[in-house]
Amino acid sequence: MRACPNCGNKEYKERIREKDFIIGECKGCGLTYLLNPPDEKEIYEDYYTIEFKGDDYRKDSPYEHLSEIFEINRQRVAFIRSLTQQVFKSAGNNFTLLDIGCGTGLFLKSCTAAGFRVSGIDVSMNALNFARENYKLDVSSKTLDDLLKEGKKYDIITMWHVLEHIMNPVEELKKVRGILKEGGLLIVEVPNLNSVKFRLSGKKWKGGNHPLYHRSFFTAGTLKDTLIKGGFSKTELRNLPYILENKGFLYNQSKKVFNKFSADAFLDVKAS
Ligand SMILES: [Zn+2]
Repeated sequence: MRACPNCGNKEYKERIREKDFIIGECKGCGLTYLLNPPDEKEIYEDYYTIEFKGDDYRKDSPYEHLSEIFEINRQRVAFIRSLTQQVFKSAGNNFTLLDIGCGTGLFLKSCTAAGFRVSGIDVSMNALNFARENYKLDVSSKTLDDLLKEGKKYDIITMWHVLEHIMNPVEELKKVRGILKEGGLLIVEVPNLNSVKFRLSGKKWKGGNHPLYHRSFFTAGTLKDTLIKGGFSKTELRNLPYILENKGFLYNQSKKVFNKFSADAFLDVKAS
């Protein structure tokens, strides 16, 4: 069993066991993590199932999940615009954004529609090819080490549902810190271990995606701790509720309430 990637402690309390995989809570720092992860390299070959065409990504998409992602990304872009208006007052849209784990490029596509200058990195060649061919995006399979060596720096870095996949989040965050401009912002979104959904569904929790893909299972507290250890001294919880009209009034109202108490499905943090 591996030591806690956040604090190095080896003692844990078992929380979920699935087949041979054990997810435990570190007795040192409280991070919940996968104790015996499978080999990294092979599992992302067919991670993205791309059964849609480039222009299926739109508000009135024939695929319901794509319409939802389109709306979610619209809200993410609006969030970034509100932040950049505070941070880069005179720059307008003239900032650089890097999306780590950009996948098929849907979020970046929404960014370019808003006029942002963006690029992305991912490990899946399939997904990167799709993003290039369909949306003409500047995306590559470069690693954070590559970008550090090249001396690249960005104003905004986004990690939507990426940090929970990373074996050693603290080490990777230190690299992210190294490619963020002074005064720049990192936006991180992860599944929320303290969500009502997790409490109700336990092992069947969709945000778990365990045991294959997810390595860490964050709460607001452990996410903040990990970010601070990764070199981000200022962190602010800014949960995005992702109100979706097609889901109806009750769904959206309950999301708003859960969100207020950091019990919604996702956690969003702004860090610098
Ligand atoms: Zn720990």
